[in-house]
Amino acid sequence: MWSRLREVFARELVVLVDPTNPQHARRRKQLTASVGAIFTLGMAAAMGVAPRTAYDDPQAPRLQESLRMPDVRAQLEQLTDAEAVYVREERMQRGDTIATLLRRLGVDDPDAQAFIVKNPTARGLFNLNPGQAVQAEIDESNMLVSLQANLGGDAASSRELVIERVEPASPNGSTSYKARVQSVENDLRYEMASGAISAGGFFKAMDAASVPDEVVQQMISIFSGVIDFHHDIANGDRFRIIYEAGFRDGDFVRNGRVVAVELINRNQLHQALWFAPDGSKDGAYYTFDGRSMKRPFLRSPVEFSRVSSGFGGREHPLHNYWAQHKGVDFAAPTGTKVFATGDGVVEFVGQQNGYGNIVILNHANGYSTYYAHLSGFAGMQQGQRVSQGQVIGYVGQTGWATGPHLHYEFRFNDVPQNPLTITLMEAPTLTGKARQEFLGYTSEMLSRINALRTYNVLTAAN
Ligand SMILES: [Zn+2]
Repeated sequence: MWSRLREVFARELVVLVDPTNPQHARRRKQLTASVGAIFTLGMAAAMGVAPRTAYDDPQAPRLQESLRMPDVRAQLEQLTDAEAVYVREERMQRGDTIATLLRRLGVDDPDAQAFIVKNPTARGLFNLNPGQAVQAEIDESNMLVSLQANLGGDAASSRELVIERVEPASPNGSTSYKARVQSVENDLRYEMASGAISAGGFFKAMDAASVPDEVVQQMISIFSGVIDFHHDIANGDRFRIIYEAGFRDGDFVRNGRVVAVELINRNQLHQALWFAPDGSKDGAYYTFDGRSMKRPFLRSPVEFSRVSSGFGGREHPLHNYWAQHKGVDFAAPTGTKVFATGDGVVEFVGQQNGYGNIVILNHANGYSTYYAHLSGFAGMQQGQRVSQGQVIGYVGQTGWATGPHLHYEFRFNDVPQNPLTITLMEAPTLTGKARQEFLGYTSEMLSRINALRTYNVLTAAN
């Protein structure tokens, strides 16, 4: 049954909406939205998992979050004619203090300012990042009525800081303020995007399909055990990706986790599905038949980004054949992050003739990895444990190097292997109860995915 579903899933990939056609893209959005509203995801366990390594939970770049506008009309109805409330929104800027922020919001209210500086909850404002929005309601005398800021969260819910003026009990009483943090539920929806890699490269294709950056980062991370994005991605590769997005009152709040993704890379189909066993906070990505996507080694030790993708190329003639020098070169700008490809222990960190700055890691079962020509180390010390995906250094051109690149060696019993072609150890498979659960979940998820695809196919045919 699973192989049949997998077949269907793969075959129909080619009849999806053309993401470069704006009309299709618009219809896709509308339909995805309405389908998403029908399905409520039982994914609570999957949310809110703290990122651990670059592998299984990428640290997506921080988003600018849209805020829910207060219902001004309802508030205005409650006001007498003499009073009016104005709503202003400003974004945090680098170097902002509470005073400068309040000034930009048009608030001239020393009592409110003093409250925010002293109150432990209200001081949460200090932790906002540049670009995050803050809304204030002010009255005609520029006094603060209320203030709202989104403190973050995940696709399923947001935490909002609310500071409110408390009207005095008697005309002669003094005004006070109160602050609270409230959790606000979002509506979770599925978004789907698909496309093909063309001559413009991987990131161009993602842009053409309107895949948000933080979703692209997840996709790269999910496949990092089986695909070396620097060397493997080719013209004609196709992808389809389904991810969660949180909405509130119909407005987008933030994107969430990739739920399912498939990539046909050089005619080979790779599929992954997020799954967290019942009662577990730690989910992971699995193939549709229940094998973990995680491998003992990453396929690439170099961060794959907009800047590093396609860097160098013909301008930097590097050693293309591992046999000539026992390693593989990854051209990338100086400073690009270098990851430990597997869990291990630092065997050597320092300078070696030819290699320049080098880190050597020892792994289980006789494996070791070499990372050479580094511009710097990420605080490594000999004997230190490192985990897969951990940053260990930065690309450079120390030693015998004609341009910035990472020289990477993958050794077994100290004999260099070709990491580009080696078939790495098979992934562990779910067994027993977890496997039954997984298959049940997969079945349900695939029918949802199929529903999404049906809508897309219909719109594409219109
Ligand atoms: Zn090399």
